[in-house]
Amino acid sequence: MKAILLCAGYATRMYPLTLVKSKNLLQIGGVPMVEHIIEKLNKIPDLDKIFIVSNAKFFDDFDLWAKGKINIVVLNDGSTSDKNRRGAIGDIKFALDNINEDDEFLIIAGDNLFEFDLFDFINFGRKNGITVGIKRIEDIELIKKYSQVLLDDKKRIRYFEEKPQNPVSKDAAILVYYFPKGTLKKYIEEYLNEGKNPDQAGLFIQYLHKIVDVYGFVFQDTWFDIGDINQYHIANFYLLNKKLIEKVGKGEESIFFIAPGRINIIGEHTDYNGGYVFPFAVDKFIYLAIRRNNKKVINFISLQFKDFVSVDIEKIKKTNTWVDYPLGVINVLNEYGYKIDGVDLIFESNIPIGGGLSSSGAIEVITLTGLNHLFDLKIEKAKIPFMCQKAENEFVGARCGIMDQFVITMAEREKAILLNCKNFEYKYIPLKLNDFYFLISSTNVSHSIAQGEYNKRRAECEQGLKILKNFVDIQTISDLKINEFEKYKNKLPDNIRKRIEHVVKENERTLKAGECLIKEDINTLGRLLNESHISLRDLYEVSCKEIEIMREESLKIEGVLGCRITGGGFGGCLISLIHKDYIYDYIKNVGKNYREKTGLIPEFHICQPVDSCSIFKI
Ligand code: ADP
Ligand code: MG
Repeated sequence: MKAILLCAGYATRMYPLTLVKSKNLLQIGGVPMVEHIIEKLNKIPDLDKIFIVSNAKFFDDFDLWAKGKINIVVLNDGSTSDKNRRGAIGDIKFALDNINEDDEFLIIAGDNLFEFDLFDFINFGRKNGITVGIKRIEDIELIKKYSQVLLDDKKRIRYFEEKPQNPVSKDAAILVYYFPKGTLKKYIEEYLNEGKNPDQAGLFIQYLHKIVDVYGFVFQDTWFDIGDINQYHIANFYLLNKKLIEKVGKGEESIFFIAPGRINIIGEHTDYNGGYVFPFAVDKFIYLAIRRNNKKVINFISLQFKDFVSVDIEKIKKTNTWVDYPLGVINVLNEYGYKIDGVDLIFESNIPIGGGLSSSGAIEVITLTGLNHLFDLKIEKAKIPFMCQKAENEFVGARCGIMDQFVITMAEREKAILLNCKNFEYKYIPLKLNDFYFLISSTNVSHSIAQGEYNKRRAECEQGLKILKNFVDIQTISDLKINEFEKYKNKLPDNIRKRIEHVVKENERTLKAGECLIKEDINTLGRLLNESHISLRDLYEVSCKEIEIMREESLKIEGVLGCRITGGGFGGCLISLIHKDYIYDYIKNVGKNYREKTGLIPEFHICQPVDSCSIFKI
């Protein structure tokens, strides 16, 4: 028996997330989506090969993912966009032409997640003939998006309607098919030769059941069709809760929370100098399932880390592991006199860890938000960022500013936050980028000098401030006006003068960037990103070889208006402003050239401005 997984779609309903990554490779429950299906398929003893049909756009990603998986063959269907896609039936035909060997076939859509095993389904098919998986869907509105099926007493499909307007049945067909030897190629070819729609698999079944017996097999267990971002979140929470029960056992009902990562458009190394930053919350998320355990312990699990850590609630001390981030938050609660009880926390995240999108801020804020809710602590939202920053500064021991925790707690959808790091005044600015997106390109390096150099920059700024205070009445470097800087710059040693010049001008640029967005002047915004980068490279001196290669390659792409290094420096990410029509060119060319020049595999993320950390109700 052979299986064909259909993974060549473009998932336009999940744009822009799926502009740079195949939906079927999105991480869910800690692993790429298709792996959940592969796990089920690997349990079938007489299944000899799994064929994954990918499009050309994401073929390299699938190929890389499939390395070392001996029973998996990835096929490239040659399509490059939604406009020239082959469609589900076209892709099955394409796979069959490549396989060129008759056999029994299992066909599964690569975005179906299910708990049921396939044994009974296959046995049923072997006994009866062509079989289609059926799920009972209670929500009639959802049936309209799928198909409705009526079965006779022998479980034969006697009525099938794709996307019914007025559904009468709650049984919907799902894209899990079994075809006995000698059937699939024959009927697919007949169907396509008649010039019928190659795109919707349901239409094929609608046609097929009229010319041959097609059976329906009703699956009882949980099933998800990951069609949009909400379904994706729901499935993630489902898997998270399941893992919690597996690891810790049954208990009280879990409550779910979700928190975004963040990027900073501009305003780099200004935060600790009392300046402006201009971040927004991005659509990369950490998920938390939390519940009381009514014991005196705190259980921590993360799907990103293997260890399961249990901490005695009376004996909180640093662990020097990832647990310090959420534990630090609990420690701050204790210091502030908030009382909590035993609790289980399980995390899952697709925010790249240590990748400059603040996975650390996200895990802190989600922990505090979850505990605040669960134990009804009544902590005001405005206090959350400061408590989380305290946890990271004092318990974890990382010297971070307030920006990350602030934006993760306070963000609003489709807006960026212009934050004054001196007095914490802030304002929301709508992010209307028209056809442009912010794209994050991770170099996948972080040089070991980073922390040391960061501390050195901070010290240089402090030294510069001390000198300048002899001449002007300022509290922070950001109070210094450009003309004052020009007047007193020769009082500063060379290196320090460069650092101060960056901070003063970066502040100006950040305020200007805010104005550009209000005026929807995207071109100038692009120019400001470039100016920021040049300043960070030449004056603040925090760039590195890999970032420069990534930037040089990025600027070759038409449609890139500007790009700059973001984060502490010496590796990490580049942020680019790019027109949507050039994203494909970008990930193909920059991806390839960066790989060739550095030997490193880059990662790309399109960033959409989303809401702050919140409870997630299912
Ligand atoms: P970032 O730029 O992502 O914030 P940091 O080094 O500041 O990088 O924080 C990363 C650390 O945060 C990780 O090493 C880990 O300790 C913790 N962390 C982040 N996300 C998770 C997660 N999903 N599960 C467990 N720990 C996490
Ligand atoms: Mg961090």
